[in-house]
Amino acid sequence: MWPHDEGKIGLINEWWKSQGRAPYRALKLKFLEHFDTCYWCSDPVIDYVPPLGEPQKVPDNAATVDHTVSRFFREKGTRVKKVLACNKCNQRRAREENKLYTTAHNERKANLRRSVETDTG
Ligand SMILES: [Zn+2]
Repeated sequence: MWPHDEGKIGLINEWWKSQGRAPYRALKLKFLEHFDTCYWCSDPVIDYVPPLGEPQKVPDNAATVDHTVSRFFREKGTRVKKVLACNKCNQRRAREENKLYTTAHNERKANLRRSVETDTG
């Protein structure tokens, strides 16, 4: 099942919005009814339910719900879609996003400092 059917993804996203505050797991299961691979790398994914008790490492091929557009760098009006992703890709993207966010944040702070120095100097 590759590539993912964008139309179907759109329908699932619409369904999700119509559900109000349905649990995240319901969305994941809905995706799993239609897809069995990662949106990004097309590797097969599984529905992983963490066992009770000790927290364990979530396997790389565990199905997760990911965003196609970064939460941090959303252009106004950009439609954010949720997609089915393997845990590995989700983690990798989260790490990259955090790195970008930290860089952007530091740049903003540096710019702010520069403008303050210009104002007072
Ligand atoms: Zn993947």
